Parts: sequence; C-alpha cells; structure tokens
Amino acid sequence: MKELIFGILSFLFIVSASALLFLYWFAPFNDVEFITKPEFRNNYNFSLNGTTIQFYENLRYPSERISYKIDDICNLQKKADAENAIEILENLTILDFYPVITNEEIFITCENKIKTDERFFVAGEGGPTNITKTENFNVILHGGVLLLRKSECERPNIALHELLHAIGFDHSTNPNNIMYNISKCSQVLGDDIPETINKIYSVESKADLSFENVSAAIKGRYIDLNATIRNNGLKISDNAKIMIFADDKLQKEVEIEPIQIGYGITLTFKNIFVSDFNVKEIKVAINSSVEELDKNNNQIILETKK
Ligand SMILES: [Zn+2]
Repeated sequence: MKELIFGILSFLFIVSASALLFLYWFAPFNDVEFITKPEFRNNYNFSLNGTTIQFYENLRYPSERISYKIDDICNLQKKADAENAIEILENLTILDFYPVITNEEIFITCENKIKTDERFFVAGEGGPTNITKTENFNVILHGGVLLLRKSECERPNIALHELLHAIGFDHSTNPNNIMYNISKCSQVLGDDIPETINKIYSVESKADLSFENVSAAIKGRYIDLNATIRNNGLKISDNAKIMIFADDKLQKEVEIEPIQIGYGITLTFKNIFVSDFNVKEIKVAINSSVEELDKNNNQIILETKK
C-alpha cells in the first residue's frame, strides 16, 4: 500500500515537473527587458564621453523664450502630456515656453493611427523642421512634434522625448536615458541634456551684422565698392547705417533695412567722389545703435595697393 501511494505521488511529481518544464520552455513571459551594458549601469546621462548630443553643433532656437502651439486635434491626455513635458524642461533649464495662436516656433500635433516601423510601434516623431546656418550657430526657426501613442508612464516620457528632438537632441545609446530610441517608463533626462541646453542658451539673443566679401577700386577721384553684409546673430537686425570713409573722411552713408537671421545683402556703389587724391585707406563701417553679439566685426579696412 505504501509503495502504491509513493508510486502515485512520484508519478504526479514527474507529471507536474514536466508540465512546469514545458511551460518554462515553451511559454516564456512576453516581457522585453533591456540589458543595460555595464558602462551604462547607474548612468542616466545621454552620453558617456561628452560627444555631440545634438544633430548639429550649437543648435538652438533664436531665444531662450520659445513659442509653441498645441494642435486642437490633440485629445486632453496628449495635450496634458505635452504641457507637462514643457513644464519639466522649464524647471530643469533656463528655457521658457509660451503659447501662441499663430507663428509658433514649435508646433505640437497628434494622430491616433498606429504606425509601425518594422519591429516597433512608433510612439511619436519630433525634430527641427527649419534650420538656418550662421557663422556661430545652427538656428532652429521651426520645429515639430507629432504624438501618436498615449503615454503609459507616470511621466510624459514620449512627449518629453519628442520635444527634446524638436529642440535638437539626437538619440542616445544609453537605454536609461530619455533619448534612447525605444521608450521605457524608467528612462530619465539625466544631467547632460539640461547642462547642454543651459550652455547653448547662455548666449543672449542679439543680432550680429558682419562683413563678408568687401572689395573696392579707385579710379582717379572715384571709388567703386562692393560689400556683402550678413546677420550672423540670433535676432533680426535693426535699421543700421553703412558708412564709407576714405582716409577717415566720411564719403558716403546709406541706411540698410533690418536683415533676418542668416540673411545677407550686397551693396554696390559706383563712382563715389573723393575730394582727396592718393587715398591710402578705405574703411567701411556698420553703424547700428543696438547691441550685437560681436561689435568687433562691424568695420573693415582696405588698403590701396601701391
Ligand atoms: Zn526618437
């Protein structure tokens, strides 16, 4: 009798053990977990080696005050996600976002359709849509955010990720960082993104008119002159005056209209009469009453060839 009970028990044990084994081998939990590479454990930063974390160097909006508009088609949850993401960035950086009805710098819109990218659901899209390159900056004149999937996380991680793309941040290779290309609720912003933002935006939003390609020729007592002036700054320039001097005597003065960021104008002068013979030096100067990023590039001196 004892043997019989023992036999039944051991039979049951083998059956249940193999059932467990079967479940273990053939019905794995469908949870995808990222294996963090050792160098990224306890590291939440965008990068480990301080390499460029934006799409381009010095990529920024003209001012630390950035306007935005959330599309009316976004539902309440996505609208709240976008607003919370904006607030998180405002609290961590010197950036200040303000809503506008038209002519926004960042447009946030939404779609409910499900998009897939081979293996993954696409959570959203974001990035600069208009960049103007100047001497010192890549200036974002417009950016966009598209929210597709609603956030399942406590923090609005998807909206924050897309907003950071719109501000110019690329993807990170650190799975702990918010800019990793696959979204996970535990991902955080880290320290280097706010530090980068604060550094780039520490330069005030000012215009910067400067000379490019200036050439002149003297024929007897007449000067011909060509000058290209570009705004390499972070703001549209004000009205300014271009003054042409021959040996420090003012010969000609013209007003120029405001110039947009990154734009330039070329001025051509023919037959400017000079009262003196033997001009040694021609000076062209930009006279603007407003502050600029750099005033040292506001004049150029051309020496006459002997
Ligand atoms: Zn992304």
